Amino acid sequence: MKPLAILLTLGLVSIASPAQITAIKAGRLIDPDTGTVLTEQIILIRENKIDAVGKGFAIPASAKVIDLSKMTVLPGLIDCHTHLADGAEDSGDPLAYLKKTAAQVALESVPNARAMLESGFTTVRDVGVYRALNDVALRDAIARGYIAGPRMFVAGAYVTITGGAGAMTGIAPDIQLPWDLHYGEANSPWEVRQVIRKLANDGVDHIKILSSGAVLTHGSNPKSQEFTPEELQAAVDEANHFGLRVAAHAHSAAGIKNAIRAGVASVEHATMIDDEGIALAKERGTYLDMDIYDEECIEEQGRTGTIPKDFLQHDAELGQIQRDNFRKAVKAGVKMSFGTDAGVCPYGTSAKQFAFMTKYGMTPMQAIQAATSSAADLLGHSDELGSIKPGKFADLIAVSGDPLQDIRVLENVQFVMKDGKAYKQ
Ligand SMILES: [Zn+2]
Repeated sequence: MKPLAILLTLGLVSIASPAQITAIKAGRLIDPDTGTVLTEQIILIRENKIDAVGKGFAIPASAKVIDLSKMTVLPGLIDCHTHLADGAEDSGDPLAYLKKTAAQVALESVPNARAMLESGFTTVRDVGVYRALNDVALRDAIARGYIAGPRMFVAGAYVTITGGAGAMTGIAPDIQLPWDLHYGEANSPWEVRQVIRKLANDGVDHIKILSSGAVLTHGSNPKSQEFTPEELQAAVDEANHFGLRVAAHAHSAAGIKNAIRAGVASVEHATMIDDEGIALAKERGTYLDMDIYDEECIEEQGRTGTIPKDFLQHDAELGQIQRDNFRKAVKAGVKMSFGTDAGVCPYGTSAKQFAFMTKYGMTPMQAIQAATSSAADLLGHSDELGSIKPGKFADLIAVSGDPLQDIRVLENVQFVMKDGKAYKQ
C-alpha cells in the first residue's frame, strides 16, 4: 500500500470531491420576477443551487452540459393546494379511509408524489391530510431521497370544528375513531391553540384551518360558517408564535371575510367571495388560492358515479360562481396563487388549470407567476424558490413551444430538475 492509500484507509486524509457543475443552455428563459422572457441564456448550477444566469460567459470545462436551446425554460412550478398524502385515487369518499391502515395510505401516496414531480411541479404546499402526519412522513421521505417527489410544505392535519369540513363525518356516533382521524378537531379558541401547539411540535410547515363547510365532506354545507372570528384569530396568533402561516379553507362569503380579517395568509377556494371580500383581500394582501379547474373532474366523477351524491348536491352551481369570482378578483388586482386541490383531479394533471386561469382573466404570464414567484411569496420562501436566480434552488422545467402564446404547452413538461437533479429528460 502506498502511504497516501494508507492514510486514506485510516481516514486521516479526506479528498474533497469537486463540486458537480451543470450548465443548462436555455433557448428562452421565463423570469416571473420581472415578467420578461430572456433568450440564449446559460444557467450555471453548482450542486443543488443556481450559481449564475446570463449570456455569453464561458462554460467551465468540467461542467455537464444540458442543451435546452430549442426549448422554453421556466422555474419549477408550485401547486399551493395539494393533498399528496391521501393515498390512491380509488374513491371520492373519505369514508374509504376506514378500510385502510395509515401505513397503507402512506405507501399508496408514493406514486402521487412522483406524478406531481414529473408533471413539472417541483414544490407543493400540501394543505391537509385525513390520516394526521402522513404528509410529514411523505415530505421527509422525499427530502431524504427515499422516494421521488416535489419539495413538500405540509399542514399535518386539518384544524376543524367537530363534524366540520375537515372532520371524518358520516359515521355512527358510537364509532370511536383512531387518534389520527380526528387529530385537528377543536371547538374553542383555546382548543385551536392547543391543536396548533401540537402540530408545531410535530414539525409542520403551516396551518390549515377550515372556516366554512365543504363540498367534499358528508353532512357539510359550503355556504355555512364554521370557526368563529375569535377561533380564527386565535389560530393566526398561535401559528405566528411558531413562525407558521395559516391557510384557510372557505367557500362562503362570511367564512372568507372572517378568515381575511383574522389575518390568514391565503384563502383556499374563495368560491363565494363578494365585493367586500375582494376589497378586504386586496387591502390586507391576502392571497386567494382558487382551484378553478377541478369542477371539470367533479362533473366527470358525477357522470361516472364515482363521487357520493351529497357531494354533487353541495357542488351545484358553485363551479361557475367560483370561476366568475376568480375573474373579478384578478381584475381587482388581488394577489393570486396557483392551487388545484390535487387529488380531486388526478395527480399529475394540475397544469390543466393554467388554461382556465387565462380563460377567466389572467394573462399567460400572470398564470405562470401565480405558480412560481407568487407561490414562493405565499410560502415565505422567495429567497430560495420561484425564479431562476443565483442562490436559489436549481428547480426548473422546460417545455417545447412558448407558453406565453399557448399556455397549454405547460401540460406537457419535457424536462424536470429539482435540487440540481434531473428527474425527466
Ligand atoms: Zn383541499
